[in-house]
Amino acid sequence: MTQARVEGGAARSVEVIAIDGPAGSGKSTTAQGVARALGFTHVESGAWYRAAALLALRRGLASESTVDGPAVAHAFETCLMEAAEARGTCQIRLDGEDVSAALRSPEVAALVSRVAAEPAVRHVVTERLRSLAGGLGLVMDGRDIGSVVFPEARLKVFLDASVEERARRRSAGDGRDVAPATLDRRDALDRGRAVAPLAVAPDAELIVADDLTLPQQVELVVRLYHEALTQRRA
Ligand code: C5P
Repeated sequence: MTQARVEGGAARSVEVIAIDGPAGSGKSTTAQGVARALGFTHVESGAWYRAAALLALRRGLASESTVDGPAVAHAFETCLMEAAEARGTCQIRLDGEDVSAALRSPEVAALVSRVAAEPAVRHVVTERLRSLAGGLGLVMDGRDIGSVVFPEARLKVFLDASVEERARRRSAGDGRDVAPATLDRRDALDRGRAVAPLAVAPDAELIVADDLTLPQQVELVVRLYHEALTQRRA
C-alpha cells in the first residue's frame, strides 16, 4: 500500500517517469504497472484536477460559462487530499471523505477540463504534485508532467491511440459507455488551453498504443526507462 499525504512542500530530486497523453490512452493503467515493476510510487495527476472540479461543483464555483479560478484554487489549497493505493485501485479522500467514485462521475468529467484551464488552479495543483516526489521514485501520469511539472524527469513518454481505441479503453475501465466525441471534446480543451496545454514534449518518447496490449505497454516503458538510465551512465 502506497500512501501520499498531500499538504504542499518542495519537489525533491528523485527518479521520475512522466507519462502524458490524451484521455483514455491507458496512461494510468500503464503507469501503475510500471510503478509496480520498478517499486516506484504511482500518482494519477488527473485525480487532482478532478478533485478541484468536484470542489467547484459542490461549492457552486462554476457555471455553464464561467469558472471562478481563484476561488477553486483557494478551495483546493485549503483542503486535505489523500491518495492511497490498495489492491490495484486508488482511493482518494478529500477532508477525510472517500470521493473516489465521485471523481469518475460524468458531471466531474464534463467540467474538469474547464477547471484545469484556470491558471490559478494549475498553479496550486502543480505545487502539490511536485511535493509528492519522494521514496524510491515516482511514475506520474497526466497532460503536462514531462513539460511542466517535472521537466527534468528521467523518462518522458507520450502515450497516444486513436480516439475509437481510447473510447473503448475508457468504457471498459469506467464500466459505462464513453463516446469518442466526449473524449474529443475534452482533448480539444486540453490541447487548446493557454497554460500547460496537452502536447508532446520535444524530448518525449511517443508511443502509439492501438496495437499494444497493456503488458506490452508496461514492458516498453520499463525498457525505455532502463535505456535512459544506461545513457546517463555512458
Ligand atoms: O487523466 P484524467 O482523464 O483523469 O484527467 C482529467 C482532466 O484533468 C484532463 O482532461 C485535463 O483537463 C486535466 N489534467 C490536466 N493536467 C494533468 C492531468 C489532468 O490538465 N497533468
